[in-house]
Amino acid sequence: MKFSQLHTRTIKEAREYDSVNATLLTQAGFIDQVMAGVYAFLPLGLRVLNKIETIVREEMDKIGTEISMPSLSPMTLWQQSGRLETIDVLMKTTGANEISKRKSTKEYILNATHEEIVTPIAKKFNASYKDFPFAFYQIQTKFRNEARAKSGLLRGREFRMKDLYSFHTSEEELIDYYQKAKEAYMAVYRRLGIGDDTYIVQASGGAFTDNYSHEFQVKCETGEDQVFLDPVSKVAFNQEIAPSRAPVFDQAGEQPQPLHKTLTKGITGMQALVEFLQVDPRRCVKTLIYQTSNGQLIAAAVRGDYDISDEKLRHATGATSLSLASETVVREATGAETGYAGLIGLPDSVKVFVDDSLQGIINFECGANETDYHFTNVNWGRDLPEPETYHDLKVVKPGDISPESNQPYEVFVGSEVGNIFPLGTKYSQAFDFTFADQNGKEQLVQMGCYGIGITRLMGVLVEKFHDEKGIIWPESVAPFRVHLISLRGAEAQAQQLYQNLAQQGVEVLWDEREVSPGIKFADADLIGIPVRLVVSERTSGQVEWKQRNSDTSELLSVEDTLSRLQR
Ligand code: ATP
Ligand code: MG
Repeated sequence: MKFSQLHTRTIKEAREYDSVNATLLTQAGFIDQVMAGVYAFLPLGLRVLNKIETIVREEMDKIGTEISMPSLSPMTLWQQSGRLETIDVLMKTTGANEISKRKSTKEYILNATHEEIVTPIAKKFNASYKDFPFAFYQIQTKFRNEARAKSGLLRGREFRMKDLYSFHTSEEELIDYYQKAKEAYMAVYRRLGIGDDTYIVQASGGAFTDNYSHEFQVKCETGEDQVFLDPVSKVAFNQEIAPSRAPVFDQAGEQPQPLHKTLTKGITGMQALVEFLQVDPRRCVKTLIYQTSNGQLIAAAVRGDYDISDEKLRHATGATSLSLASETVVREATGAETGYAGLIGLPDSVKVFVDDSLQGIINFECGANETDYHFTNVNWGRDLPEPETYHDLKVVKPGDISPESNQPYEVFVGSEVGNIFPLGTKYSQAFDFTFADQNGKEQLVQMGCYGIGITRLMGVLVEKFHDEKGIIWPESVAPFRVHLISLRGAEAQAQQLYQNLAQQGVEVLWDEREVSPGIKFADADLIGIPVRLVVSERTSGQVEWKQRNSDTSELLSVEDTLSRLQR
């Protein structure tokens, strides 16, 4: 392709965005922001996107069958699954003006994901155990009402995703397939040049399953997630569920002091309390009152320098879901306003769960279950019974210890480029998707879902592979393999080389514009195509070969150039 056929150009004067990928992709002419979180893909950008999609497609074809589902769907499907009211990023669309609404006032969902669409389709054609297992996938545009679109392609309101849905006759079959999907995912990331930096991370399975899901997290400073890696086993967890032990708060030599009830008028919240009492937060107990979906009241306690993980607490209590109790419920349960809950004197109706950061602690402070009062110098055994069991309820922090290896976690910032979930029967139940087993008995189908963020991946590649001059594309997804620059006086030679390369099937972008050499070289660096070839009067019939990721160039004959590019 000739540069002049792009009908776009580099815009070095484009403003700096909040992320390297937004800035470089805009300056290099790959994308154009239409509004926050919504981008047009220009010729160069589309070529990269297509290449990423081709790699994903090739790997997914090994484990599934491609289909294409719509972006619009009826509200009824989402009512049926119960997700119309629960997905916090779901968007809808309807007629934009009066004349349009006169035709129809119907409202549609702009799909954020496709379980609701794929399940009825799969059900229509597959009814016998002999039809299973199978998987449908698509590469398609998703819409999400993100609170903050940011970091360029990393978090958009409209973005490309590969989503795959698998269907099984048993849980074992699902788990077996789930492992295969993991391998197919890693094959994708390896081909994109980020295999060594991509970690399979255990994450929560969400409210409807005790299973975990898995995220694929790439080390990337612009990412939004913290990943906790056990340095010995190399098992990684996301922050929501990482098992953790707090570094010990050393109280060696300290003797138990007399229990004291202290007036802490109007002091609620850990920050205010430690400032008021002038104590180390590690001496304080944070007690929060939760209520489960069954109405059970829970008091969860953790050391003052930690927060409570709702997800861990849900696991520990075995509740389907739970949330912080209302002020009224807290008042009824503790006899005090919110902010003064503690572990001494709670009614039996409240079940107590204590985090292991509080094991062995002496002389601690906690709420007195009386408005405006806290106890200080509380001691297990003397002032209240020591818990029979401790739990891990805390939100993990850098510096925490992995219980598995007893070593501090390695912590890194990651960007989630994939996510896979064993769904179980959630959607087969909602859409009554059953199969006849070998005895003719109807059973619910087991499902899994598997996503890859295609556009986010494109952004992540730029975040990882660039220098001060521009992008450095991995060969597998570069918009072209060769960036040919012809300088004044070498047009005929360039034309010949361009034809030779095309004949050989080498994808080449030929900068044949009448602009200065400096502009051409700077553009080549900014755009980031792996091999730059220069022909000029100075190369006298030969070709200057330079790789984008190297500082040195060499002079080659045309034959050597062509044979080097032969695959
Ligand atoms: P996140 O936690 O980042 O919001 P998610 O868990 O809601 O993502 P999934 O529903 O698991 O996202 O979607 C599958 C994949 O799609 C994600 O792993 C991610 O790579 C990508 N993705 C999700 N939301 C966005 C977005 N707003 N913009 C770009 N890519 C996204
Ligand atoms: Mg996810």
